[in-house]
Amino acid sequence: MRLHYFFSFLSMMSFDGVYEKTLVLIKPDGVQRGLVGDVLHRFERKGLKVIGLKMMRLDEAVLREHYAHIAEKPFFPGVSQFMQSSPVVAICLEGLECVNAVRLLCGITKSREADAGTIRGDLAMSVACNVVHASDSVETAKKEVPRFFHPDDLHSYDKSEFLNVYVDDERK
Ligand code: ADP
Repeated sequence: MRLHYFFSFLSMMSFDGVYEKTLVLIKPDGVQRGLVGDVLHRFERKGLKVIGLKMMRLDEAVLREHYAHIAEKPFFPGVSQFMQSSPVVAICLEGLECVNAVRLLCGITKSREADAGTIRGDLAMSVACNVVHASDSVETAKKEVPRFFHPDDLHSYDKSEFLNVYVDDERK
């Protein structure tokens, strides 16, 4: 009986969220420390769909564009050097309102003050070496995904798990 009320309640709920794509980079410290699997696992366990995944090297030009908002900061040369020190792993994730959800999973920039349970909070101590980059808004994600992924590198597919991750109204 209780279950019946639960499902009636769910059917009365209406969801107005939208499906989004977001970009994550596992930074050189994450690659060097063997954290690629752990980080990817966290996104998968959350219920996000991986639609793009590749290892790549970043050059100065793409970093200037990607980090335009910090390009004039005194620490930018160090960030650029660090980001070129080894390959990174670029991930495109898809899910309901996932830009914000992924930022919450990553935690704040200064890792040693990031909440426990987040990637930075659990796996890092540094401001610069903070394991991951994640798009900070829907507008940013719309620019960042195509910066790192050609449309042919993004895969559209049904994920059977979504039947259990979302209720009907939340699934597109
Ligand atoms: P976030 O990656 O959390 O969105 P920002 O966009 O502000 O943070 O900064 C981009 C990246 O630049 C950070 O992830 C970090 O690697 C580096 N960074 C930011 N602030 C500093 C700092 N004060 N000193 C060194 N590196 C920094």
